[in-house]
Amino acid sequence: MPGVVIIGAQWGDEGKGKVVDLLAADASTIVRFQGGNNAGHTIVRDGEEFKFHLIPSGILYEDKTCVIGNGVVVDPRVLLGEIDGLRRAGVGVGDLKISANAHLIMPYHVLLDTAGETKLGKHSIGTTRRGIGPCYADKALRLGIRVQDLLDEKILRTKIRAALEPKQQALRELSVLRRKRLKEAGEDAKAVSEPAGDGPDPRIDLHTMVEEHVAYGHRLEPHIADTAKLCWDALDADETVIFEGAQATLLDLDHGTYPFVTSSNPVAGAATVGAGVGPTDITEVWGVAKAYATRVGAGPFPTELHDETGERMVDQGREFGTTTGRRRRCGWIDLVALRYAVRLNRIDALAITKLDVLRGLGPLRVAVRYRSREGAVLDSFPYHQSILHSATPEYEELPGFDEEIGECRKEEELPRAARDFLAYIAEFTGVPVRLVGVGPARDQVVWLD
Ligand code: GDP
Repeated sequence: MPGVVIIGAQWGDEGKGKVVDLLAADASTIVRFQGGNNAGHTIVRDGEEFKFHLIPSGILYEDKTCVIGNGVVVDPRVLLGEIDGLRRAGVGVGDLKISANAHLIMPYHVLLDTAGETKLGKHSIGTTRRGIGPCYADKALRLGIRVQDLLDEKILRTKIRAALEPKQQALRELSVLRRKRLKEAGEDAKAVSEPAGDGPDPRIDLHTMVEEHVAYGHRLEPHIADTAKLCWDALDADETVIFEGAQATLLDLDHGTYPFVTSSNPVAGAATVGAGVGPTDITEVWGVAKAYATRVGAGPFPTELHDETGERMVDQGREFGTTTGRRRRCGWIDLVALRYAVRLNRIDALAITKLDVLRGLGPLRVAVRYRSREGAVLDSFPYHQSILHSATPEYEELPGFDEEIGECRKEEELPRAARDFLAYIAEFTGVPVRLVGVGPARDQVVWLD
């Protein structure tokens, strides 16, 4: 029963999409188990670039079932947009299944997310403002709307009404703000990218929302399924099921750098809850990490560089977000954090991506410990937020390489320094590096023994 979990081992954007795409070749089913459309995977296939925010990366295969698990929060507009985009590109979506238990991101979640971030001002978390946090909050409050609710207008109306009730105050404040902004913009709604009109925001009018969502339900109905059972059936038939994480370990709601984290659990253990399988269904865990480190949004990032090397990492690695276009913060690979991720997820194998980006940046540095503000040596990832915030990394320096490696396909074709760099990572973290990325294309990888 091979259940393979693939998760990000850093702060996200490690190139999980490509690794899932590669490992999916032997799988029958690919399941996303958490997060929402704040994730973004880019896969380059035959020169064509595909970007996904919700749909699992395996959709490009014709013969695989792709599942959006119960742990995912689904914005139906975004999902239907992706389905339409794939259809236009000639990619079939018949095998896309959506858990009836997944929660829906509603228009008021998006508005509240934006309002929350604006209110926090310079203390904002840096969310993607897609409504994901407020949606998970409603799930925990038992006020969520689930995918299955789209199929029953009466239930849908009752549930939306109940969900709106405790938000009235916040939504009223938003309405006042909106009217003020519209007035300032001279009723030119486009200038503030909001619908015109004097009354309450039409996007959160109960009647409009119910009508819209019933229509979404009609379109999504063929995809709605009991997806946990789909996974059991595949596992029981000895097929390989891949559980695809979004975001990454250090953004985990419980184990990451709270509060600068995502609102779900991207660690491997969450695959069980988010897909509906048992812990012993998981037979292998792959961690994906870049050969350096990046982070989007606010929060501690000990190895962040503010110099020319950091700029070159941004340029050479094209470090701009798939979902938001935001420039990513860049720095050297943090092996203290990576070792933490290895243990937390019980990673069996590492995929190190974007090794090609380090070309010409030697000598290469790897963070092997931190030093606290008081001068204490920290060999492991500090659980205390204040310590992490002020920790400075200490580095080991390794030789760099200047050769172009995009054409390498075998370990021995990689420059000596690149191989030593990978060996150092494996030795330090205690797990083998099994896959190395040497360029964005699907075939630009080196499999290691
Ligand atoms: P994900 O969310 O973890 O899948 O990561 P993203 O898709 O946001 O970012 C990864 C980016 O790096 C994509 O644009 C990939 O095409 C690209 N990429 C993946 N692997 C490699 C690699 O080995 N080298 C280079 N240069 N780019 C890569």
